[in-house]
Amino acid sequence: MDRVFVTGGAGFIGSNFILDYLSRGNGQVVNLDKLTYAGNLANLASVKDDSAYTFVRGDICDAELVAQLLAKYRPAAIVHFAAESHVDRSIAGPEAFLRTNIDGTFTLLQAAREYYGSLSGDERKRFRFVHVSTDEVYGTLSPEDPAFHEETPYAPNSPYAASKAASDHLVRAWVHTYGLPAIITNCSNNYGPFQFPEKLIPLMIANALQGKALPIYGDGQQVRDWLYVVDHCRAIQAVLERGRVGETYNVGGGNQRSNLEVVTTLCALLDEMVPESKFRPHLQLVKYVTDRPGHDRRYAIDARKLESELGWRAEESFETGLRRTVEWYLANSAWVEDVTSGAYQNWVAQNYGNR
Ligand code: NAD
Repeated sequence: MDRVFVTGGAGFIGSNFILDYLSRGNGQVVNLDKLTYAGNLANLASVKDDSAYTFVRGDICDAELVAQLLAKYRPAAIVHFAAESHVDRSIAGPEAFLRTNIDGTFTLLQAAREYYGSLSGDERKRFRFVHVSTDEVYGTLSPEDPAFHEETPYAPNSPYAASKAASDHLVRAWVHTYGLPAIITNCSNNYGPFQFPEKLIPLMIANALQGKALPIYGDGQQVRDWLYVVDHCRAIQAVLERGRVGETYNVGGGNQRSNLEVVTTLCALLDEMVPESKFRPHLQLVKYVTDRPGHDRRYAIDARKLESELGWRAEESFETGLRRTVEWYLANSAWVEDVTSGAYQNWVAQNYGNR
């Protein structure tokens, strides 16, 4: 295993990836993260800043910094997670999404291109740039439509999805025009430990435990294809090791569930796992709210290319993954409390200053 330059490694998926990568031994990670509201170093509290792991607070839009770091650490690969990732926030304020997701990816690609040019022949053969993207670039499906596959035309519907689609196109162009050995992954909705409680599953767990309303958009029949985050991390690892340059791989767990089904299952799990809760049955907390503008109806992923070419399989079923996730949030109430109270942001301000 090699030294990997990770962007956005203090976020939900990036931190799970770093923990998984380092736990296999021998690999090294440099983590460049701006520590926005979504970046939380507590996710990586179990990792020591030492020869195997280095954290750098910084912005992927800072061309000079990115170039310096690549020249200093000479990674064998770049895995690009850093992004603004929440659809609702992209509707309220799209600017940050265009800046980080498009300009930031552009900056990183330019630095990667320059760095790639400085490598020796053997190093160039091994070097990979993995761009972590979303199934939301494909738009929405009706109930009868087949699942998204790698040739599905792009049709993004939210500012978030449009910014990710733009970044995917940039990566593709850098492969074809400049020969950068990059690979794109488009993954479905993730869930699991360390997910910021603005996203559906952790929001519902956090609210239910406090007896707060469980807000469901519209009729709750929007379908998403859920994947346990560690399965996503393993898919990225497989792509890093064995993926073909210039290819796109869809990643998904084949777990299509409506939002209402997800919340109903979560409430049943909480009823069972927190028998002393005074808010049981938790389903009574559900509150239907006005639908999100332009809300995509259904996403579904066809991951057969990743499975047949790279031998990847999702290991966690939705039922066991959801149970593990609820267990994690119950066992880590201090993490949830820090995140919801903003305490970790105060810590960031004290340690790194306000940026
Ligand atoms: P997240 O919001 O939890 O984390 C994003 C991280 O990026 C944070 O640590 C944040 O501080 C950092 N960041 C933001 N702007 C930055 C900048 N300008 N410079 C450096 N760091 C910056 O996101 P996530 O859910 O972990 O998603 C990671 C990636 O995976 C994103 O690219 C997202 O589009 C993609 N993805 C997410 C999902 C999902 O379900 N969460 C599914 C498919 C793909």
